Amino acid sequence: MSVVLPGRLRLTVLGCSNAVPHPDAPASGYLVEWAETAILLDVGQGVARRLERLMDPRTLAAVFVGHMHADHYLDLAGMRYLYPWAGRPPRRLPVHLPPGGRARLDALTVAISERPTFFDDAFEIAEYTSDDVLRVGPLTLRFQRSRHYVPAWGVSIEAPDGTRIVYTGDTGPNEEMVDFACDADLLLVEAALRSTADDDPERGHLTADEAVDLASRARARAALIVHYDPTRRADLEAMCDATGPWVRPAIAGLVRTVSPRPVVAGSGAPLVLEP
Ligand SMILES: [Zn+2]
Ligand SMILES: [Zn+2]
Repeated sequence: MSVVLPGRLRLTVLGCSNAVPHPDAPASGYLVEWAETAILLDVGQGVARRLERLMDPRTLAAVFVGHMHADHYLDLAGMRYLYPWAGRPPRRLPVHLPPGGRARLDALTVAISERPTFFDDAFEIAEYTSDDVLRVGPLTLRFQRSRHYVPAWGVSIEAPDGTRIVYTGDTGPNEEMVDFACDADLLLVEAALRSTADDDPERGHLTADEAVDLASRARARAALIVHYDPTRRADLEAMCDATGPWVRPAIAGLVRTVSPRPVVAGSGAPLVLEP
């Protein structure tokens, strides 16, 4: 069981890899905690097993999926098998899917040869919209449509002390995401591409340079680069070293606690730390 300081927002990176399997690097999965409230952002391959090292996934307050690509939701199937095959548990796990996600999950039920109520018997499934403001315990969640090959959303999680973690999800360059992430205390920004030449002309991912640019223009207090091939880590470390200590490549197992910005005595204004 993980230990969480009361009154602090905390992130644990369960996985931040791309869709290619790696022995020590699960796909997308981020645990965000405030006191006893734990929510999971994305459930890519390998994430459920990694989460079980820390907690019983059935005690999560909620799960949020940003988009319906395998590396962001396929382990929902694995998590489902933690529940009895037949009947409904006293509490079903709230699972929030993007618009259209419900139909994808129904199709997955058929694809894995399970009965129609397979997911509903364990999960309380809902679809959010871009305009929703959802409250999970003391946390407030908002959503932003990203720029991807399929409908996809980023998410902002705000704690009672005003601190905010923002996760872009999969996205190409996107000014609305810059605005959405503005002044984030901790920004998880994807950098799936080695080069823009690897992307579709419509753009659906970022290079590391573009990720840092997005985080800089959003004035993020700290940023973690996510959704990258682990074999690129040394290159990303070097790039971050040259950029500044405020941005680092994430790695599975990394834990970050988010403290409120210090307030300058007498002014009431937050002291903006040099990024
Ligand atoms: Zn994707
Ligand atoms: Zn992805």
